[in-house]
Amino acid sequence: MNDDDQRRRVPGTDTLLALPAVIRARERLSDAAVRAIISAAQSAARDGDLAVDDVERAVEEAVRERLPLTLRPVLNATGVVVHTNLGRAPLSAAARAALEAASGYVDVELDLETGRRSSRGSAAREALLEACPAAEDALIVNNGAAALVLAVTACGRPPGADSPPGEIVVSRGELIEIGAGFRLPDLMESTGARVREVGTTNRTHLDDYARAITERTRCIVKIHPSNFRVQGFTSDVGIAALRTLADEHRLPLIVDLGSGLLRPDPLLPDEPDIDGALTAGADLVIASGDKLLGGPQAGLVLGRHEAVRSLARHPLARAVRSDKLTLAAIEATLRGGRTPVHAALHVDPVRLRGRTEQLAARVGAAVVPHDGRVGGGGGAGVPLPGWAVALPEDVAEPLRRGDPAVLARVHAGRCLIDLRCVAEEDDERLAVAVQTAKEAAARGPERDD
Ligand SMILES: *Cc1c(COP(=O)(O)O)cnc(C)c1O
Repeated sequence: MNDDDQRRRVPGTDTLLALPAVIRARERLSDAAVRAIISAAQSAARDGDLAVDDVERAVEEAVRERLPLTLRPVLNATGVVVHTNLGRAPLSAAARAALEAASGYVDVELDLETGRRSSRGSAAREALLEACPAAEDALIVNNGAAALVLAVTACGRPPGADSPPGEIVVSRGELIEIGAGFRLPDLMESTGARVREVGTTNRTHLDDYARAITERTRCIVKIHPSNFRVQGFTSDVGIAALRTLADEHRLPLIVDLGSGLLRPDPLLPDEPDIDGALTAGADLVIASGDKLLGGPQAGLVLGRHEAVRSLARHPLARAVRSDKLTLAAIEATLRGGRTPVHAALHVDPVRLRGRTEQLAARVGAAVVPHDGRVGGGGGAGVPLPGWAVALPEDVAEPLRRGDPAVLARVHAGRCLIDLRCVAEEDDERLAVAVQTAKEAAARGPERDD
């Protein structure tokens, strides 16, 4: 049979569209996505890269598993628990189920008893209040940055109509960049207020704050610089002392904790918790939902009733409100079982070592001591002691490009596989992926041509 005959025998688009698997897939995939799969198989057959008799099967296979989604799940073998590039906190089983349950019509703003409109997200709010007894009220917004912008916008003493911009008093040592080039002082100034830096990079005293307060001051903000540590000759002013100063000047005290620990954790002794910050005297505490809390992206605002209500009533609150999926996942994170973040932080060292040794034996590599990290702006400088399987550096790329995709840590010329953040049920898949990547690396770099 010559090439022209081959080309004539390639199944037509209508034939392929009529395959049962393709008809079923059209509930999941757009018309354009289905046609793109079909036309890719047809041209592969025309080019001789696919046997004509295999076209139907290739199309059926291509549509079967395909979701209209290009995000790919990744096994996190870096040992970094809250990994920003991997979407921060992986959700708990309860939170995943809640997302599914909340995806249809739900009573997010309706009281089914009375048939009246109810306040949005009240169940998630109540779960937060139960978790933080020192909070009188709570509000959930889109993320931590939105919470900070809303707080400094709505909470500060409102300036008069033609008065100069209000000032936000913050310690210089706390003016941090949080990632991807975003800086908290710029964020706060985007509200039209000015940031009034006080103190120095390493030391700030109560007197520095006191001298900076004028009639323009709208609020005092204290930020937990969670992603770095200053060591040596340092001092900062605690929340309790700032409370006294804030009371003297009738100013709101806003504390941005970043990571969102609900209660003190002995593993992270320097990490402040929300309840403790409120007890110490903050009017408002801000934290992210997807860092140490282990939930979805969200900004949590907890604090005094009047302060939280003034945020909730501000027009900007509508622009940063969280959706029903987030509210459902936050509630389930708080009320459900242990989160994967908690499990990874508090992993049993004996078990971790055993799993690491098993993987090392499987793939013929060595076990080395390896410290995991909290990551994502929390527990800076706190090592999480553990182990890793050490492989040659060139295994990292085929691992990353494999299926399942695995992100390892590349350090000092080695590819390190840390099982801390890998769920135990994924150990087998990981072992197969590592073996495959090791063989691919041994064959040498593949050429994409
Ligand atoms: C992470 C962080 C933020 C930003 O929170 P997002 O939820 O990422 O918007 C703000 N402040 C501090 C101190 C942080 O650590």
